[in-house]
Amino acid sequence: MSTQGDLVLPSQAALEHARSTLLTDLPSDGIGYEQAQHHLENDIVPALNGSSKSSRYYGFVTGGSLPIATFADKLAVEEDQNVQVHLPNETVATNVEDAALKMLSRLLEFEPSDWPHRTFTTGATASNVVGLACGREHIVAEAARRRGTEANVSDDGLLAATQKAGIQTIQILTTVPHSSLRKAASILGLGHNSVIDVSDPSAPHRFSHDLLQTHLSKPNSASIIAISAAEVNTGLFATTGLAELTTLRSLADTHGAWIHVDAAFGLQARLLLSPTITNPSYTTLQAGVTGLHLADSITGDAHKMLNVPYDSGFILTKSLPLAQRVFQNPSAAYLSSSAASSPDAIPSPLHIGLENSRRFRALPIYASLAAHGRAGYLSILEKQIALARSIAAYVAAPSSGYELLPLDPGASLEERLACVYVIVLFRAKDEALNEGLVERVNASRRIYVSGTRWEGRAAARFAVANWGVDGVTDLEVVKGVLGEVVEK
Ligand SMILES: *Cc1c(COP(=O)(O)O)cnc(C)c1O
Repeated sequence: MSTQGDLVLPSQAALEHARSTLLTDLPSDGIGYEQAQHHLENDIVPALNGSSKSSRYYGFVTGGSLPIATFADKLAVEEDQNVQVHLPNETVATNVEDAALKMLSRLLEFEPSDWPHRTFTTGATASNVVGLACGREHIVAEAARRRGTEANVSDDGLLAATQKAGIQTIQILTTVPHSSLRKAASILGLGHNSVIDVSDPSAPHRFSHDLLQTHLSKPNSASIIAISAAEVNTGLFATTGLAELTTLRSLADTHGAWIHVDAAFGLQARLLLSPTITNPSYTTLQAGVTGLHLADSITGDAHKMLNVPYDSGFILTKSLPLAQRVFQNPSAAYLSSSAASSPDAIPSPLHIGLENSRRFRALPIYASLAAHGRAGYLSILEKQIALARSIAAYVAAPSSGYELLPLDPGASLEERLACVYVIVLFRAKDEALNEGLVERVNASRRIYVSGTRWEGRAAARFAVANWGVDGVTDLEVVKGVLGEVVEK
């Protein structure tokens, strides 16, 4: 990045300098625009990481910001619209959101009319809260209906509604969930312990359909099936295509369950479903995102693979009336929309999501989709997958000193690489080196990886998510750093 040359992390000196210049007392008169600007540009910005400006920041799943998205975000700030109520005679902001959500649905090979409840959120965590809240509303009402009565969490509250519905446990049945799913369960009064692992012991990212059935059949229970698409450590997808989704759908319908998909970064793989794509090495990834249209709610992140600035996520669900029950901002006449009664009216965002006042986060998404289109985003994704697979092939080579995870002794290298999406999980073969691997890699400051644990041992992880990925230079730098680390 411009201020840091080739480095993806600021120098220690820049960090210390920035901390030493931070104001700790509120200045009574203020330092003024010019001094404040100078302080930000000279003290603070040089001490920020290069996650947006460098394609070699591989931590978490970070993404970046496409130039057009940065431009649009600046406009969103300058214009400071509050996209809360649909007011078509006053601003076009809600129409832009609606258009962005429709284009986004199409980018992801979804029919917008199948997902009448669609809205932008602050990120995938918020989307998981929204998706599970809709799920909770549905499964309790459905259990009550099957008992010949009526109950709604939105009106009665969780305690009274579950009592009326005869529910003693609400369970979220899943495989290797992202931590935010448990957080969402806690926020919604379901509790961390409601999240139950029903994975196949021989392939923990997959469902054990036997275990799933056993839990779904538990008396006096109501369930949400949560699909991890993809799993955050390995990038592996929980499901294997239309046949499995059809089975899950019919199980869910039998038991009055809801299907939620956490596809924060995996959803972008649906670009590979475009009929123009014939590359056979994508078959496994395509299978992982096929059939997701049969789910009830889907979480996506825009600040990850879509490469727009934070804070930007989205949620798609199948039922607008259900969402309006959960998220209705009741009895606020001053917030009513002038167009609420027209049949194709855009629903006011405040009645279908968590927030009341909200920023115009649709604008950078709208602008990026307009500027890059399907082909532009597909080309970025293909470069990201190609780089991740090159890195995976490098660490998998017997002479590298590393090993690619998960270990899959029965599979050929080609088969293992075909499972690689944009995440590469790996470790050093030498356990002493492996324990400090992430620190050593990141000490280079030329690339940045995240640490995690895998099967009880330390592991490191590349997430290739930046739009500026360059398969040739980036691969050389990665190989250089990994080579130096293993030789030291
Ligand atoms: C990143 C991520 C989340 C959380 O997303 P935020 O946007 O950070 O809230 C949830 N689920 C998965 C699978 C993720 O990768």
